[in-house]
Amino acid sequence: RQSIRRFGTTALRAAATEPSSYTTRVSTAQGIVNGLTEAIGNTPLIRLKRLSDETGCNVLGKAEFQNPGGSVKDRAALFVVEDAEKKGLLRPGGTVVEGTAGNTGIGLAHVCRSKGYKLVIYMPNTQSQGKIDLLRLLGAEVYPVPAVAFDNPDNYNHQARRHAESLDNAVWTNQFDNTANRQAHIETTGPEIWAQTGGKIDAFTCATGTGGTLAGITRYLKTASDGRVQSFLADPPGSVLHSYIQSGGKLTDRSGGSITEGIGQGRVTDNLRPDLDLLDGSLHIADEKTIEMVYRCLDEEGLYLGASSALNVVAAKEVAEKLGKGHTVVTVLCDGAYRYADRLFSNAWLQTKNLRGAIPKHLEKYIVL
Ligand code: PMP
Repeated sequence: RQSIRRFGTTALRAAATEPSSYTTRVSTAQGIVNGLTEAIGNTPLIRLKRLSDETGCNVLGKAEFQNPGGSVKDRAALFVVEDAEKKGLLRPGGTVVEGTAGNTGIGLAHVCRSKGYKLVIYMPNTQSQGKIDLLRLLGAEVYPVPAVAFDNPDNYNHQARRHAESLDNAVWTNQFDNTANRQAHIETTGPEIWAQTGGKIDAFTCATGTGGTLAGITRYLKTASDGRVQSFLADPPGSVLHSYIQSGGKLTDRSGGSITEGIGQGRVTDNLRPDLDLLDGSLHIADEKTIEMVYRCLDEEGLYLGASSALNVVAAKEVAEKLGKGHTVVTVLCDGAYRYADRLFSNAWLQTKNLRGAIPKHLEKYIVL
């Protein structure tokens, strides 16, 4: 009650008697950034309380869902665009072209709007109308094309490349093999994690799509800690990277799938290749564990996370258990559950994926769709 009264008298009176100082205070404050692009990054590092208590470690999640476009991919989107600008490939009024069905497209759409570029997106026509609508309302020109394999010239990535080649002042940002992607994490995410933990970090783990996040953060943390911080790949079913690492470099064909979106890979991308040898190991995370963690994070931490984030949290918990009490393990909370809610919290969907039984009784209340 005291503090309420104090606020009522002192703070409110101060505000009422100094209206003209408000503008000055705002414009000189440290917290203001110049436009959307500067609002990317500097996300909180959240200590997951229950999992930390359970493991006796600090299990920390980098809250990438707080980026303006809602995912970790905003950072890569900004870096590939600014890299093209620096190289003179993109000049005012130019066009960015990318093949993506997901978060990279959304990140690029925000960045391109903010910088005044046109954006063209190619994606497989198996993607939901919701994704197409969102990209279009963010100003992108969207081409859904037949979903064919990468070695087919009509694959969406090749169509994106050819579209960019056919235009003047246009760039194919090529997120998988354009290393400006990993550079985003070497220059921003890695240093942020190092600073936020004050260097008190023992291990890092996360999944990969393009590999930019894992490779870039691993590179920075290994350098900053003289190799002390361990780093582990977390891999979903249907990805070849876990077996590639475990077998010492044998690439198998992709088989099976996962409920996770945006992660899992069939090859070693240019973003991942330079840092693959820096990894200390890899973990395979089954969908049963991932879906349970989606529900646990919601129930225990109030975090509404997509499946790739939940997979990362499972991996962080397993690494913490492996290292033992007293360690600090960091992972990435890539995006929120918003775009996936109609699946992750649907009884019918869980049943078709054979995952209904993976939800413990006390969490069934979240199956509301
Ligand atoms: N999670 C989600 C939801 C994503 O969209 C992506 C990007 N495809 C990733 C994780 C993986 O990030 P990266 O491309 O940096 O490996």
